[in-house]
Amino acid sequence: MHAATPPTEPHVMTTYGRVPIMLTHGRGCRVWDADGREYLDALAGIAVNTLGHAHPRLVKALQEQVAQLIHVSNYYHHPWTEPLAAALCERSGLEKVFFCSSGLEANEAAIKLARKFGHDKGIARPQIVVYEKAFHGRSLATLSATGNPKVQAGFEPLVEGFIRVPINDLDALRAATVGNPDVVAVFFEAIQGEGGVNPLSPEYIAGVRALCDEHDWLLMIDEVQCGMGRTGKWFAHQWAGVKPDVMPLAKGLGSGVPVGAVVAGPRAASIFQPGNHGTTFGGNPLAMRAGLETIRIMEDEGLLDNAATVGTYLHTQLWAELHGLPGVREVRGKGLMIGIELDRPCGVLVNRCAQAGLLLSVTAERVIRLVPPLILTRAEADEIVAKLVPQVRAFLNETDA
Ligand SMILES: *Cc1c(COP(=O)(O)O)cnc(C)c1O
Repeated sequence: MHAATPPTEPHVMTTYGRVPIMLTHGRGCRVWDADGREYLDALAGIAVNTLGHAHPRLVKALQEQVAQLIHVSNYYHHPWTEPLAAALCERSGLEKVFFCSSGLEANEAAIKLARKFGHDKGIARPQIVVYEKAFHGRSLATLSATGNPKVQAGFEPLVEGFIRVPINDLDALRAATVGNPDVVAVFFEAIQGEGGVNPLSPEYIAGVRALCDEHDWLLMIDEVQCGMGRTGKWFAHQWAGVKPDVMPLAKGLGSGVPVGAVVAGPRAASIFQPGNHGTTFGGNPLAMRAGLETIRIMEDEGLLDNAATVGTYLHTQLWAELHGLPGVREVRGKGLMIGIELDRPCGVLVNRCAQAGLLLSVTAERVIRLVPPLILTRAEADEIVAKLVPQVRAFLNETDA
């Protein structure tokens, strides 16, 4: 079912293994390729297209904004920064926002915040606790914080100042930091995304919050992938009933327009002073309008509830179809962030499912990841199951020893 001639891009660096299809347009949870074939999009540009494709209200707001002002730089004010910042603070219970354009940039800013927090306290060589299987981005600092040797290989020397621990193990965190006066922050994803959809337990997150309070460390929660409503609350850590001090956001925030943000609570909101940090594109009118309109549409359409209910439904249906199949280990996640772990590498499923009209990804080699738009309906959830399950069954059958 592939196009007769797979797309080639001889002038583009080969940093990605791409699915050989050329996508040209989309609507809702569907996209179409250059040959007119239709796909159900359960990847959403990697948890980015919150509102699906070509949402009429977002299209209208962005068209209006493009015709008014796209970019002015941070030398000047424009009307859209403060409303988006206020909207994020209101929903997170935090105080101030720095805007940028991607997830790694948000995390880079968080790491700088933590270091300056330390320096302001007289700690010359601050250290940040990070996690096994974490993913925080591909800049030198964020790949150093990332817990995946494949992301780091070839780019050493790594940035120093990170201490690594396993998830969901408070004793390991205590042991790794005991008596260390240089620790300034603990930094994790509430649900690890690239690492295989690994949720941190609410008890663990609450336990780390308490440790951070006890030791005057910053709690920094990377919500780049699991945040912005995907789990059924605005931010995944809110299921644990705690607030972080620093929260990087990106992916779903602009529903496809590149928007990143670092949201900070009282202990971190005033660490950066003029001249400490900045970016040219961050906070531009187009990006801010995209973020603000995304949040408004999410509320008007009840998309948090939708993510929770349709997510639970999809999760339940997948489990009903897949549990007990030899080779299927677990279905896990929260809301519309779902991972299906197999007992074997299953990357080939990405192309096969695309051929069957379903877009998804495989992460951590064995985990099928579903992060569809938050507008997903029950009928579309049924369609994901109907397209995916036969592919998983066939794959397991043919790879069984
Ligand atoms: C994707 C991701 C990043 C990196 O975001 P980019 O926009 O690709 O730089 C960082 N953290 C998490 C949790 C992510 O999922």
